[in-house]
Amino acid sequence: MTITALAGGVGGSKLLVGLQNALVPGELTAVVNTADDATMYGVHVSPDVDIVTYWLCGLADTERGWGLRDDTFNVVAGFARLGQEVWFSLGDADLATCLFRTQRMADGVSLSAVTDEVRRALGVETRIMPMSDDAVRTRVVTEDGRTLEFQEYFVKEHQEPAVKEVRFAGIGDAKPAPGVIEAIRDADRVILCPSNPVVSLGPILMLSGVRDALREHNDVIAVSPIVRGRAVKGPADKMLHVLGAEVSASGVAGLYRDFCTTFVVDETDIEEAALIEQLGMKTVALDTIMRDLPASDRLARSLLEL
Ligand code: GDP
Repeated sequence: MTITALAGGVGGSKLLVGLQNALVPGELTAVVNTADDATMYGVHVSPDVDIVTYWLCGLADTERGWGLRDDTFNVVAGFARLGQEVWFSLGDADLATCLFRTQRMADGVSLSAVTDEVRRALGVETRIMPMSDDAVRTRVVTEDGRTLEFQEYFVKEHQEPAVKEVRFAGIGDAKPAPGVIEAIRDADRVILCPSNPVVSLGPILMLSGVRDALREHNDVIAVSPIVRGRAVKGPADKMLHVLGAEVSASGVAGLYRDFCTTFVVDETDIEEAALIEQLGMKTVALDTIMRDLPASDRLARSLLEL
């Protein structure tokens, strides 16, 4: 069974690892958000793409969520010694990935091609596609009137400022990366991972042609990132209002009602099932909390059996 999964960072990676374990090599494709990419310390960081790649090759620091296990932080410490701001942590080996990406892109290679080179070098069998080769950049407008780059909001300011609006600079002109639309169209099943609906899946869905391809697909499953009215982690619950959605599984389901055929809620949210069915989606309740790898494997297998 071929699966194309749309994903952000950690929430997406946990499910992708389970799916990769359950499928035959070549059957899984991940389409990954790049709207939180940024230039840091002179290099192109692509946080979600790298998180997904590291989780899928087994080298991720799964406790921290991002970066490589046992990495060191000498370069960032060196920057600090030079009096530079170092609120964005980046491990030394992780920086090597970003340096490689930056160098290759300076040579004219596309983001999607470099991403493929990295995943092959690290032995990942799942195809990993950045959502676009064009720059899309998330900006968060805060209630106190500031416009922050996404990493400033997320890392420097610890997602504390109240969010008034989220903008995606460049989204209007950005094209899906080569193969993204085909990967959605040709997959037997499309899965929306439990990633942030506003800043991770939101920009993927806004790329021209993506939503139409999903609407035309007859097997699209989404897993709720909201459980018992809260985000499992991260600021999704503090952002959903910008899309006019209630902070609940059914609130998220409403955002996907035009293309989603099956919506998966956590088993603790089973009472929301009837409401979601009314939106025209089949609703399934499962244990969606991926607290460890066996839990990811169980959820992935359940999704494949639906
Ligand atoms: P993203 O994947 O980059 O969007 O970022 P995060 O890893 O922070 O997670 C985004 C969303 O996924 C958040 O709304 C979390 O609530 C949700 N999430 C993270 N882990 C899990 C999980 O194990 N189960 C479920 N159902 N949702 C999760």
